[in-house]
Amino acid sequence: MNAIPLDPRKFRDPFVTAKGETRATVAPTALRTLWFNTGTLCNIACEGCYIESSPKNDRLAYLSLEEVRGYLDEIGSLELGTEEIGFTGGEPFMNRDLPAMIALALERGFRVMVLTNAMRSMQRLRREVARLPRERLTFRVSLDHHTAEGHERVRGERSWRPALDGLRWLVEQGFNVHVAARAGDEPEGELRAGFARLFAEIGLPLAAADPVELVVFPEMDERVDVPEITTACWGILKRSPDSMMCATSRMVVKRKGAAGPAVLACTLIAYDAAFELGRSLAEALKPVPLNHPHCAKFCVLGGAACSR
Ligand code: SF4
Ligand code: SF4
Repeated sequence: MNAIPLDPRKFRDPFVTAKGETRATVAPTALRTLWFNTGTLCNIACEGCYIESSPKNDRLAYLSLEEVRGYLDEIGSLELGTEEIGFTGGEPFMNRDLPAMIALALERGFRVMVLTNAMRSMQRLRREVARLPRERLTFRVSLDHHTAEGHERVRGERSWRPALDGLRWLVEQGFNVHVAARAGDEPEGELRAGFARLFAEIGLPLAAADPVELVVFPEMDERVDVPEITTACWGILKRSPDSMMCATSRMVVKRKGAAGPAVLACTLIAYDAAFELGRSLAEALKPVPLNHPHCAKFCVLGGAACSR
């Protein structure tokens, strides 16, 4: 892994890079997916959690059902043609209104994706979760590695068994389930082969070779040096700005102490005020300058997407 520290002259001006070149921006093409961050509290504290969640981090407060309803109404009134609603955190099940939020989004006809660690916070709401419709609903469960040791190295002691129990329970209930892993140092082929063995061992009907059923995320460390993305990069890298997550999605959050929720450019940059685009979806559908190391490392060079 590249361990050169990030050059402090980079990622300062939203429009110009340290070398004086024009910084790339991404214009919205549609709002295909709207994410809700239901709060940053989490029952565990994983090493390298991109949003720094923990049992103590409440910088993003719990969203309420009524706040979620307000944004779903706005999607309808603006006729945005949104297809999918995503729920993330922290651990989204720490927010006890999550099952009602999922039910509301499904009632409105959206596909729904819920990112969860499937541990105790979800399991204490089993009764409510079991009542949810199975159609158009997917749970993406984080298993950082295919071995207990690899998983617990990131997620802490005694985190493996509860995650597997929650994952198996979701499958037994007939829910559509995907798994999210971290790339780590293992070559991707070996990582996927390891997960294929695990899925077979515990009887999970998941295809480890499928990049949607098993999503592998690159490691994120904003202290490590990365190139800045200029308008020339799209052509050089043969990538389109339209394929970036911020071209087709936004994330709603509520900062601790704020009067109401705000809309961010994407799920990856939660604490940088420059990526807060407005209170309403209408205000937030504007171009995003790629002025953060995650834009380069995770999106343009890493090629990952948080949605499916
Ligand atoms: S479970 Fe997810 S949100 Fe919670 S600390 Fe781990 S990576 Fe972060
Ligand atoms: S991190 Fe990715 S999705 Fe977020 S603003 Fe940067 S390029 Fe867009």
